[in-house]
Amino acid sequence: MYKLLKQDGMAKRGEFHTVHGVIQTPVFMNVGTCAAIKGAVSTEDLEGLKTQVELSNTYHLHVRPGDKVVKQLGGLHKFMVWDKPILTDSGGFQVFSLAGLRKIKEEGVYFNSHIDGRKIFMGPEESMQIQSNLASTIAMAFDECPPHPATREYMQNSVDRTTRWLERCKKEMARLNSLEDTINKNQMLFGINQGGTFEDIRIEHAKRISEMDLDGYALGGLAVGESHEEMYRIIEETVPYLPLEKPTYLMGVGTPANILEAVDRGVDFFDCVYPTRNGRHGHAYTNKGKINLLNARFELDSRPIEEGCQCPACRRYSRAYIRHLLKAKEMLGLRLIVIHNLYFYNTMMEEIRDAIDQGAYKAYKKAKLDGFAANGED
Ligand SMILES: [Zn+2]
Repeated sequence: MYKLLKQDGMAKRGEFHTVHGVIQTPVFMNVGTCAAIKGAVSTEDLEGLKTQVELSNTYHLHVRPGDKVVKQLGGLHKFMVWDKPILTDSGGFQVFSLAGLRKIKEEGVYFNSHIDGRKIFMGPEESMQIQSNLASTIAMAFDECPPHPATREYMQNSVDRTTRWLERCKKEMARLNSLEDTINKNQMLFGINQGGTFEDIRIEHAKRISEMDLDGYALGGLAVGESHEEMYRIIEETVPYLPLEKPTYLMGVGTPANILEAVDRGVDFFDCVYPTRNGRHGHAYTNKGKINLLNARFELDSRPIEEGCQCPACRRYSRAYIRHLLKAKEMLGLRLIVIHNLYFYNTMMEEIRDAIDQGAYKAYKKAKLDGFAANGED
């Protein structure tokens, strides 16, 4: 159940009540694709990083270790020893981006596993069954992620099919939630808005799925190659047609600046691999922009990644030491940056919530964006 606490302009401040606890929004969900945050970050680490929601990937867990294995072990929460909310994506995005040969039919998608090449079929019912076995808090609807760019005709057909798939997802989830041996009988379902950069298709689709009374609504198929300006325009045009009284989730986005802009346009759920992926490449986020710790200028730098940062990495270790670890290919180097980056994102979300609470979001956003531009490398 979503409770809208306050609006500041279009920015939403909310609380999302789940069986695994309350999520304060706007929130950044920390991405743990294969039931772990890449960079050797443990569940215990997450508890010290202000993480509210962990995100796991349906496709990856279906292929390995198998969702039935996870179910036998009591579901994802028990498996990972994480008792807070978990969101699972539908597997759709990976099916369309990772998998080899695939065939899209009305019933679903036929494709080959990226691990061993074996044939897999996934449709709306299968995706819901897998997510029910994983027993996540929030399940995402199975949709098609259309290629970018796509023709208008392709997009319209794809979006229509995604709507029909959403109806099947909703029906299947209701059935699964009523079964005796289902682990999380209160699993929630978010629908996904598609339509690429065709705003009329987006708006029409948003209206249709809003009538379905789902637990939340996501914008999918953005940050797939269009410009930031185009993405902001689509968010701005579409969000007003999604229910204000439900969470609004922008999938797979983005940089700290992207998040600040999207919050200002009414989005309050986010996820992205940037803090972990960039951390694993030696890039750390700071309030003065991103820095590359492999850079020679940090060789004798005894300051933490960011002065004043209270994360476990900055409380103890210097830039010089972390740079040395990276150079020596010690796993600890990557781990410390990933920990700092997740803390940075989660702390920014906390600041965003405070700013909205105080009705000062615009000023906060401007100060933050000015800071990123001040000294950043990119
Ligand atoms: Zn830090």
